[in-house]
Amino acid sequence: MKIITTISDMQEDSNRLRDQGDRIGFVPTMGSLHEGHLSLMRRAQEENHALVVSIFVNPTQFGPNEDYDSYPRDLERDASLCRETGCEVLFTPSVDEMYREGNATTVSVAGLTETLCGACRPGHFNGVTTVVAKLFNIVRPHRAYFGLKDYQQYRVICRMVEDLNMDIKIIGLPTVREEDGLAMSSRNNYLEHDERIGALALSRSLDAARQLVEKGVRDLDEVRRRVTEIILSEPTNRIDYVSTVHPDDLRSLSTLQDRALLALAVYVGDARLIDNAVLEVKRD
Ligand code: AMP
Repeated sequence: MKIITTISDMQEDSNRLRDQGDRIGFVPTMGSLHEGHLSLMRRAQEENHALVVSIFVNPTQFGPNEDYDSYPRDLERDASLCRETGCEVLFTPSVDEMYREGNATTVSVAGLTETLCGACRPGHFNGVTTVVAKLFNIVRPHRAYFGLKDYQQYRVICRMVEDLNMDIKIIGLPTVREEDGLAMSSRNNYLEHDERIGALALSRSLDAARQLVEKGVRDLDEVRRRVTEIILSEPTNRIDYVSTVHPDDLRSLSTLQDRALLALAVYVGDARLIDNAVLEVKRD
C-alpha cells in the first residue's frame, strides 16, 4: 500500500491507475477507522480494481465550538487497517496541502443542506461538499462509497455529483452497528460508561418507531413524540433534533404515506451522535 500525502503525487497515481484501465473505488474518511468504514472499503475493494482511501480531518466542516481539535486521530492504526483491507493507496494530505493560500472557492448545495444537521451546524455541508469535490478531482474515482448513517451527507453528495455532472457513481451502504445496536462512530470514543448506556436509547427509539409503524401508526408526530420520550428517558441525553422527512428531498413530513426518514441528532454528554431509520409502509 502506498501512503501519499501530496495532491500532485495522488493525481499522478490516479492517472497511472486509469491509464492501465483500472477502475478506482474511493472511500473518503476522517480516520479513526471502525467497522463502518471497513464495510465501505471492503465493498469498494470487491467492486473495483483499486481501492483508494483518504484520511483527512477537514477543518472547514467543523464549527468554531465543535470537536476539530479533539477529534480522534491514529494514523498508524488506520494505515494498518487499510493495508489489511487491501487498500492500494492511502491519501493523507495535510490541511496546508488541501487549502493553499488564496484558496477562495467553495461548493454549496442549496435546499437539502438547510434542514436537519444543516440547520444546527451552519457551514458544515459547505465544508463537506467543498472537500469532497476537491477529493474527487484529486483521486478521480469511478465509484465513491458513503455510509447511510450520514444520510443527509449522502443525499447532498448525490445532488452535487448530479448537478456538477461529475462522472462518478455514488454508492450508499447501510449503517454498521455494535452488537447492542449503537451505530458505530468515531465519536463513540468520547462516551463515558453511563453515556455509552444512554447512547443506546437512539437505536432503541428507532426500533420503537418501526414497531409503531408496523402496528399501523401513520401519524409521524406521534412517532416523534415516542422517540423523544425514549431518548430523554436517559439522563445523559439532550436532543438536537428528532425529524421525519422525505427520504429524497428531505422535506418535513407529518404523515407516513410510503416512506419517511426518521433522523436523530442527540448530545450524549458532550458527544453529538446521529442515527436514522427509513420507516416504510409494507404493502403485500
Ligand atoms: P467519517 O470518517 O465519520 O467522515 O465517515 C467516513 C464515511 O464512513 C462516511 O461515508 C460515513 O457515512 C461512513 N460511516 C461512518 N460510520 C458508519 C457506520 N456506522 N456504518 C456505515 N458507514 C459509516
